[in-house]
Amino acid sequence: MTQPPSDAHEFDLIERIRRRVHSRDDVVLGIGDDAALLKVPAGQLLVVAMDTLNAGVHFPDDTAAADVGWKSLAVNLSDLAAMGAEPAWCTLSLSLPDGDTRWVDGFLDGFLELAHAHGVALVGGDTTRGPLSISVTVHGFVAPGRALRRDAARVDDDVWVSGTPGDAAGALVQWRERTVRDAFLRSRLDRPTPRLTLGAALADVANACIDVSDGLLADLAHVCRASKVGARIELDRLPASDALRVAFDEAHRQTLQATGGDDYELCFTASPDLRDEIERIALGTGTPVTRIGRIEAGEGARAFDARGRLWQPGRAGYQHFA
Ligand code: ADP
Ligand code: MG
Repeated sequence: MTQPPSDAHEFDLIERIRRRVHSRDDVVLGIGDDAALLKVPAGQLLVVAMDTLNAGVHFPDDTAAADVGWKSLAVNLSDLAAMGAEPAWCTLSLSLPDGDTRWVDGFLDGFLELAHAHGVALVGGDTTRGPLSISVTVHGFVAPGRALRRDAARVDDDVWVSGTPGDAAGALVQWRERTVRDAFLRSRLDRPTPRLTLGAALADVANACIDVSDGLLADLAHVCRASKVGARIELDRLPASDALRVAFDEAHRQTLQATGGDDYELCFTASPDLRDEIERIALGTGTPVTRIGRIEAGEGARAFDARGRLWQPGRAGYQHFA
């Protein structure tokens, strides 16, 4: 039987959190009342996203508390990045097996490091006893008509991806197989970089955008379905980190890159006329981007090898409880 936390314990944890958060001018009332009061800028749309991390499902059990904190916010900020939105506030629901204050302090180290880096204020949440699980909601803004939606890809658009997809999935394979564990790959799994500046800069330029959480082909297929188009990507164009190249042979690496999840890179489509503009944005935001394919009439996202043959992944992306 799980017990509800004692009031004193719950309030002690909440107080530990409240003491460490930064506020913002648009927070009228943050942690401490029944609800937060927040000012949405006039003329802006409120953008809201939520993601949950469960121990053993969304992160390995040996993940450091600070990395769990970072990742629980990063995956949410990544959703705002994929909308071209600017984050402002977040709320945090913590389900904890016990009142381990050291774990909570470590969690906050990572969570608040990322929150402060992006000027995001933690304005409320909930603290309960149960299996280790973290739900975060982020709130942000985007101007009407500027959001990067999944349903806006057009035939003949280029398909682009940021960063080096496959790193997080590579780390997971190494963790499961208990062989060599590359620290860089593991850092990509534990501390994904939400591509917020890139997403905001693309809002005027890209047509459709999605963040890659379930795997490049699987997530691109969501764009295709919403936009009623097809996509082809060229496997040999997928940008790979040196660490991934060293750790896996080409076939395994390409499978990780095309189908592995958890990278939180942006996959977006844009008119071929805008290639120079996109390269400028990549330089300006310090975010590498690579053109990996194109949008065509039809349906589904498919990958082709260097000789132009259709490539068959073992499985497209990671589905929880599949
Ligand atoms: P209530 O019983 O009214 O829901 P709670 O005791 O759950 O209030 O929370 C008290 C205050 O602490 C609220 O402002 C709530 O938003 C905040 N809070 C609770 N848990 C967290 C958390 N994990 N992170 C941030 N704020 C929290
Ligand atoms: Mg509550």
